[in-house]
Amino acid sequence: MAPCKLCRERAADKKNTHYLTDGIIRSCLNEDGSNTREKAMMFNISWNKDSIEAKFQRSTSIDAIQRTFGREAKEEEIEGAKSIPFSVDYVFCVACETIFTEIENKFTKDVLPQLRGNDFTGQKEISFEDIVTIRKFFLLQVYRTAICDPDYPIDNALIEKLRDIILTKDDDPEVLKSIPLNITYLNTVGKDYEYTKNTVGIAVVGNNKVILLNDFVIQVFENIKDVAFVDLWGINERSDFKHFINYGEDIFRIKILDNKQRLQVWDKYHQERADKQVSFYKRTFTVSYLKKHHRPPAPKLVRAFIDAIINY
Ligand SMILES: [Zn+2]
Repeated sequence: MAPCKLCRERAADKKNTHYLTDGIIRSCLNEDGSNTREKAMMFNISWNKDSIEAKFQRSTSIDAIQRTFGREAKEEEIEGAKSIPFSVDYVFCVACETIFTEIENKFTKDVLPQLRGNDFTGQKEISFEDIVTIRKFFLLQVYRTAICDPDYPIDNALIEKLRDIILTKDDDPEVLKSIPLNITYLNTVGKDYEYTKNTVGIAVVGNNKVILLNDFVIQVFENIKDVAFVDLWGINERSDFKHFINYGEDIFRIKILDNKQRLQVWDKYHQERADKQVSFYKRTFTVSYLKKHHRPPAPKLVRAFIDAIINY
């Protein structure tokens, strides 16, 4: 068995390590808001790549898979679909998992109740004096995602820094504060079902490494000089982007988008995803048509193909 990625000493004997905290993402990942992580299909969009990669979850219907890919799912995709989303086996050890749990529990107990379950209509930010609890929790998501998901590339220097923070349990605020970190809270008001309108996934937009974590959005940067404005479906605003970059801070600021703004963000996100998907189909169809007929398809034919997929 390979050594654990965190301690690098013990064998990586832990199965089912959630690299995004289960208690945070669970409510987002099902259609009826109940606590079973079933159905739903997630897309992992990378802006630097020319493709859409879809990650299935268990019980995603074969229909939905065919709709997406216009073909039957491959054996390994179905296999992948059976695994628990955003979790991995044999990457970390059982002992290190308890370190993760400690960090997560402290956040869930001390910070989460100040955010979830409140209505922040009209409020634009909230700040916290306990920067250690907040930073360790969000940086833990960043660290584990960087280790577990190849589509979320983080510079080695930052990975080593994060590893050190988590492993040594050295809560030196100066070290923690040296990592530029932007957190947005998407105020989710209403019943559990409302959370299913949020999204879980990752996106890399230039130097901006984004984790969509249900009602939280994490933006982390390797260096302060890497911090540059990106729109991100209306989550960021040019006027206050710098204000919400925590770096060497005394209090940790979290940007709040109220419930209405949250829904606007996801509308934009889905629109962009749909546009990207349509152009992906267009390209795929055109390429295979060219191969077969040695001329490009008529625009009418391309439209018919897209319509057929959309209305499947
Ligand atoms: Zn370990």
